[in-house]
Amino acid sequence: MFDNLPMLSPNALHLAQSLVRMNTVSQNSNLELIHFIRDELARLGVSSRLTHNADKSKANLFATLGENKAAGIILSGHTDTVPWDGQEWSVPPLGALVKDGPEPRLYGRGSADMKGFIGVALAHAQAFVNSTAPFAVHLALSYDEEVGCFGVRELIADLRQAGIKPLACIVGEPTGMVPAIAHKGVYRYQCCVRGKEAHSSLTPNSVNAIEMAARLIGKLRDMAEGFERNEPRYQGFDVPFSTASVGQFQGGIADNVVPRDAWFRYEFRDLPTADAQRMQNEVLQQARSLEVAMKAVAPEAGFRFETICEIPSFLAGAQDPITRLAQLLSGQSATTQVAFGTEAGIFEQSGIRTVVCGPGSIAQAHQPDEYVSLSQLAQCEVFMQRLAAMQSLGDLA
Ligand SMILES: [Zn+2]
Repeated sequence: MFDNLPMLSPNALHLAQSLVRMNTVSQNSNLELIHFIRDELARLGVSSRLTHNADKSKANLFATLGENKAAGIILSGHTDTVPWDGQEWSVPPLGALVKDGPEPRLYGRGSADMKGFIGVALAHAQAFVNSTAPFAVHLALSYDEEVGCFGVRELIADLRQAGIKPLACIVGEPTGMVPAIAHKGVYRYQCCVRGKEAHSSLTPNSVNAIEMAARLIGKLRDMAEGFERNEPRYQGFDVPFSTASVGQFQGGIADNVVPRDAWFRYEFRDLPTADAQRMQNEVLQQARSLEVAMKAVAPEAGFRFETICEIPSFLAGAQDPITRLAQLLSGQSATTQVAFGTEAGIFEQSGIRTVVCGPGSIAQAHQPDEYVSLSQLAQCEVFMQRLAAMQSLGDLA
């Protein structure tokens, strides 16, 4: 732990506040924020690689702090936030208010998740550039994390294309500055069911889309109960087994019409030791076998699936060099695991060893009056200072 609690530097606080004041709700452009950071880095002589989405309204930013050095450690954050529609806030969500009290806090949407981390990292860009260490520190800032971790895949593809091979990655999601080494995956799908309509007195000549959907939903429920009964437990999660759940359902137009259309959305949250692709394949297989009878009545009947998002689970080792490094930098001997999905599994899949460690608590994220305590930001600042002072990456290099 941090013995003598450090004070947060005015510069780090100022940068975190500046980022919170920019509206980067996922449905909006994040370019104001990306250009702000690009310009801040340019003043230090650091150039940024931007990768845009299809309509160029959003961008990822990747920057190397320490030109001509070996690729080193990525500090990774997402720039988008969830919205606050319908939430009761007592402070302006974009106000970036600092309130004193027994625990001084920075309030605002994204303060904990995760502009506080990005602001503190940015405040140390100069220190990383000046460092005499033989390795570089990289900033990786993504768009569209909150809606399915879409941006970071483009960022990673760009690194691969450019031949940039960082050694490891620290994802600064709020963990109270305790290194987190596991989370579940989040796999979401939509299933559209096409049946054949008929007057409800003539059911044998119809395919009831709601009833067919219900059979598949029953399959999902059976699978969920199977996970609960049989899956080897992974302790440390609120629910120590994989879950499946249907979140939305629609179908039908009238009591006396056999419905032609229905759709539903469902998700799997798979343990790091489970396999969501196999779960989804089981659903697809069930759908294919139900389709035989449906198509016998109406060839056009059947199921169509769309992927909403596939965020892989994440599992690192307590002894992994990047975990040990994060422990060293944060002064923590513990590790933890988190209940939410992050970009960590995607970095891991691309061969970059990853740990999740950042200021604030997920309990405040996505909530009204989201905040991060200044002492958490100060701990994050010490983390950055220690990283900037490191001369060797030990086992990582
Ligand atoms: Zn987040």
